[in-house]
Amino acid sequence: MVRLGFKVTGDLKVPPDLVTGGISKTGFRAELKGNGPGPTITIMLEYDALPNGHSCGHNLIATSGLLAAAGLAAVMPETSGRILVIGTPDEERGSLGGGKVALLEGGHFEGSDIVLITHPGDRWNVDQRVLAMKHALFTFRGVSAHAASAPYKGINALNAVILTFNAVDMLREHLRQDVRIHGIIPKVGEAVNAVPDLAQGEFAVRALDTATMDLAYQKLVNCAKAAELASGAKLEFSEPRVALEAPIPVPFLLSLVMNNVKLLGVSAEDIRDKDDLASSDLGNVGHAYPTVNLTFKIAPDGTAAHWDVFREAASSDEAWKATTIAGKAIALTAYELLTHPDKVKQIQETFKPLKNKGDKR
Ligand SMILES: [Zn+2]
Repeated sequence: MVRLGFKVTGDLKVPPDLVTGGISKTGFRAELKGNGPGPTITIMLEYDALPNGHSCGHNLIATSGLLAAAGLAAVMPETSGRILVIGTPDEERGSLGGGKVALLEGGHFEGSDIVLITHPGDRWNVDQRVLAMKHALFTFRGVSAHAASAPYKGINALNAVILTFNAVDMLREHLRQDVRIHGIIPKVGEAVNAVPDLAQGEFAVRALDTATMDLAYQKLVNCAKAAELASGAKLEFSEPRVALEAPIPVPFLLSLVMNNVKLLGVSAEDIRDKDDLASSDLGNVGHAYPTVNLTFKIAPDGTAAHWDVFREAASSDEAWKATTIAGKAIALTAYELLTHPDKVKQIQETFKPLKNKGDKR
């Protein structure tokens, strides 16, 4: 066993309402100080899986980050600054928040200057667009009645849900193109001959920046309130305390990582823009600290994550080679930042005003 000299802390404290999926048991924070004061570079590791296994390749995220940490440990005795490695489980929990949200709120990222993470994909890229996202569950309570003999005695909760969907569809015309609102009807009524007294509409709202998502979210809530008024069914709704936020990209930081990727011999044809959109709890970290998510290629173009074919790719020889290169790119970038505090300052000076003005892209 190789000991790298990190001081490792487990059993991390997080807010009680965000303790799920074993965050406090499987999350950790490891710290390694250099030979003097300097920047703090944080590397995040993910390792959670999906019901069909490592079909999102988080095993490779952890591996590349650990490789980077091991490489940096060798030079820290002659380098100023500090390396933090944070184990961030439970990413896949989606719109209800993830491990990073809990760990951020628990204060475990405090002191970070720059945060680095990787993710496997079908290309090399540093600017995958991440959507802010918030969840909404609207419960409408009406009054049941016989649908044929006395419908006038009932209040139809399903009508309130349908009205909400119709209002949202009208709203779409006036939303920015990157805004996504998608919903389902988890509770819909029990029998066709009874006026439904209980129905639910469940939605997620997303946008490329947190401020735009928040605005669209309030409009969605207004649609549900209007449906309450029109239908007479009583609306029960409480806004979730947490949302997934959108990261604030700093082009200079992204270019540092990409320069190192090129230096390591990744071919230009494998480096391409990402055209698909996703949400992740890493957005909250990227909203709080300048963050880079390095996507590295382990699968042919167009291979989608969360499918079995991606799980197979995540254990291939090609994947392990790419993981090593990604780990080296993270290590090189961290070392460059540790040894050039002026670059860290420049990144933060770009980041702070963007954050303060509401991170509009
Ligand atoms: Zn995933």
